Amino acid sequence: AQPQQQQPPVQPPPSVLLLPLPLQGPINCFLKLAHLLTLSSDHLNITFLNAEFVHQRLPDLPTRLPRVNFSLFSDGVPGDDPRPPEKFASMVSFFENEVIRCLPEFLKSPAPATCLVVDGVFPAVVERAKELGIPVVYFSTLSPCCIWANSFLVPKLFDSGEVPFKKGMDLNEPVSDIPGEEEISLRWCDLPGICRTHDTTDPYIQLVLKECRELPKAQGHILNTFDDLEEHLLAELRSLCPNLYTIGPIHLHSRTRLEPVTEQRVTSNSLWQEDRNCITWLDSQPSESVIFVSFGSVVPMTIDQLIEFQYGLVNSGVRFLWVRRPGSLVGIEDSSLQVPTEILEERGFIVEWAPQEEVLAHRAIGGFLTHSGWNSTLESIVEGVPMLCWPNGIDQLVISRFVGDVWKIGIDMKDKCDRVVIEDMVRDLMVRRRDEFSKRADRLSKSAAQAVREGGSSWQGLHRLIQDIKFMRL
Ligand code: UDP
Repeated sequence: AQPQQQQPPVQPPPSVLLLPLPLQGPINCFLKLAHLLTLSSDHLNITFLNAEFVHQRLPDLPTRLPRVNFSLFSDGVPGDDPRPPEKFASMVSFFENEVIRCLPEFLKSPAPATCLVVDGVFPAVVERAKELGIPVVYFSTLSPCCIWANSFLVPKLFDSGEVPFKKGMDLNEPVSDIPGEEEISLRWCDLPGICRTHDTTDPYIQLVLKECRELPKAQGHILNTFDDLEEHLLAELRSLCPNLYTIGPIHLHSRTRLEPVTEQRVTSNSLWQEDRNCITWLDSQPSESVIFVSFGSVVPMTIDQLIEFQYGLVNSGVRFLWVRRPGSLVGIEDSSLQVPTEILEERGFIVEWAPQEEVLAHRAIGGFLTHSGWNSTLESIVEGVPMLCWPNGIDQLVISRFVGDVWKIGIDMKDKCDRVVIEDMVRDLMVRRRDEFSKRADRLSKSAAQAVREGGSSWQGLHRLIQDIKFMRL
């Protein structure tokens, strides 16, 4: 009898778990990464660990991303209303514990998890994944300039006692001795939000500092940026964590790989209902005449600040499209301050939530008054739209400095909220210094497009990531 031929054991397919923070920005980035992974490889099994409320707010996800498995976890808060900032810490901790409890389930056949791609703010999940032998790749959706500051600068300043700031300190003074960087001058007020604390034992600060200490230990680190934008900083970050995958701007990367007919459906991951009437309104406005005003999904605003913005915008005489997110006013209903009807008829439009990527790409938009969230900043860079920055905290304080002082594609309003200043800066951005900003913004926009094109740096970064993920094993 012929000897039986030995069949090689069948390898289960590489299987990736994706775990984002359940907030608009990270959800958007991780969904786009999931989409890119499915487009680029038939051989990856992808499971998206999603918060139940996010999934309820995006009911068409399984149809839009049919090759992604969704696994749902509670955040301990009933219903699918957007979560208010004061519930944030407890909801993330509940969600994290639920994920940890279920993690061993993902090791079962037929497709045991071979890699976890995780937002940097889940250290306990990372810990558990490592105990279970699952390789971990971080996908921090913070800006690389803030990760750089948090890694190279902030711990030193905490150690030396220069941070937290002393009472009466002039925050406009430059920070001395920025390691390795002659080209970047940061003032104290430009440092990441954690430096403004009064309590160094604050768990959030400890979490951020821990995230930075963990950076070198990660098997890899995905960044939503492109090489040309942050060359020097990336070189320094690579000295800490050699395996960086720069794959951004991820929304452009994802958009470039879509069939035009499905573009609109796949790119919208909004947790709020988008008001598309603003696109019709923009269609009737002259080219580059409108400033888009939006402060993202989290930033709160006081009624006094809202009044200053309203006067500043109206007095500037510039046309505006303003997103006033419901619930963003501290302790008061948004409807309590109306823009006069005659102004709206003449040159303004207000919505509760806009299709922001599409708005920024509209020919009528000439500037963006933004809180400098990283996603908003990249979306603006991609469309070559200059920015007026009113940062609130976290990484926004560093980003706005880079916009104004390093990339020079806008103005950093930093800590000012005064109608006269706003009026003046809106005119600077939209009229007086418009050519100067537009030229540089156009250059960066082209360079972003180049990065995601076949053979570009982010295109290569994504392909390397996929190859590496395929060969990761338990
Ligand atoms: N966004 C939107 N419509 C709006 C306002 C914001 O689609 O009316 C999106 C925006 O395109 C971006 C995200 O919400 O992708 C906000 O993320 P970012 O990092 O800028 O700020 P965060 O909300 O995290 O502070």
